[in-house]
Amino acid sequence: MSLSFEINSRSGNARGGRLITPHAEIETPVFMPVGTVASVKGVPQDILEDLGAQIILGNTYHLYLRPGVDTVRKMDGLHGFMSWRRAILTDSGGFQVFSLNELRKVNEEGVTFRSHLDGSSHFFSPESAMEAQIGLGADIIMAFDECTEYPADQARMRASMEMTARWAARSKKYFEEHKSEVPWGPASEIPTLAAKSAARMVHPDQNPTSRANDAREMGYPVSGDSTQSLFGIVQGGMDRALRKESAERTIEIGFPGYAIGGLSVGEPRELTREIVESTLEHLPRDKPRYLMGVGTPEEIVEYASLGVDMMDCVLPTRAARHGLLFTSEGKVSIKQARYAQDAGPLDANCGCRVCNRYSRAYLRHLYASNEVLAQVLNTIHNLSFYLDTMRRVRHSISLGEESRFLSSVWSRPKP
Ligand SMILES: [Zn+2]
Repeated sequence: MSLSFEINSRSGNARGGRLITPHAEIETPVFMPVGTVASVKGVPQDILEDLGAQIILGNTYHLYLRPGVDTVRKMDGLHGFMSWRRAILTDSGGFQVFSLNELRKVNEEGVTFRSHLDGSSHFFSPESAMEAQIGLGADIIMAFDECTEYPADQARMRASMEMTARWAARSKKYFEEHKSEVPWGPASEIPTLAAKSAARMVHPDQNPTSRANDAREMGYPVSGDSTQSLFGIVQGGMDRALRKESAERTIEIGFPGYAIGGLSVGEPRELTREIVESTLEHLPRDKPRYLMGVGTPEEIVEYASLGVDMMDCVLPTRAARHGLLFTSEGKVSIKQARYAQDAGPLDANCGCRVCNRYSRAYLRHLYASNEVLAQVLNTIHNLSFYLDTMRRVRHSISLGEESRFLSSVWSRPKP
């Protein structure tokens, strides 16, 4: 068993389900915090567990450059290296390379790019991106795709979509031939010290804390015959017909899950929604659907209501580091002087460890003083807010609250 997905409840187009990967069982729809370089910036793994993060993201481009795939592989992959027992998803590196603009050159074979760290030259192809992701050892990995820029003309969108389809076929071929090479898979060696120590840290007998209970519920022993799952990615720019064609061609290649990529690249939000909604119609109903790189709290609720099962976004963590906090009353810019004497919690409706303990005045002071703790606390709250929002979405779907779905989860006016 490498991946199974079942839908337990529905509310309109929204689906509540369970996604079982080799390392964890995930309740969907799920929000996945982004841990770019094997770290969700500012938040230790035990706190991520306490917040209820079920699956986190790693970025192949960054990890490939530093510390390098071989280093991670020798530590039993990302799970052993970063001591994370739950599920991990890695992107293919395509989007990051796409973001380099001046530093990349694309042809049929792959992408030549320069490292943002030291300017050194590297090459990613569908095959080498799969090789890197197999070495990193996430539960779910992504096909190598080209993220079409916005705006783009019709000819460019079609050419890009067609190349992504060819790259998807090459990604799958390489993956099928090499999937047994995953660090924790059938072909792996005896667990190293890193894996043993990660396992020890959450062993119920040795650490009878909430984390240990959590691990019993959430952490799955990895069976010998399980391996990673490769998801396909639908592209096609902002053209609905091209998106449909991309979905059909990707489905024809055949993947256990499908992502919608190439959105949130500068297009208006209404257009994002329109493309998401129309693309979802063409994706299999019985497979997980992953919308890449979105969005605000309101948007993740909306996308879940359209039938998206998985989402990730750097917004909660990145905004937190800039003092921008999401609350049940709307956005709070904690740097503002108006909070200097404010003894109240950041969000009276939030039960997170930050809101339970600290005042707005203290958070504002930390931010104004450029304290590291400001980034830590702000990030913990924002992630907690996102994960809580998705928890409420799941609850709402399980109650089958059809027409009241959005309003019951998100009752306040939009900012
Ligand atoms: Zn909070």
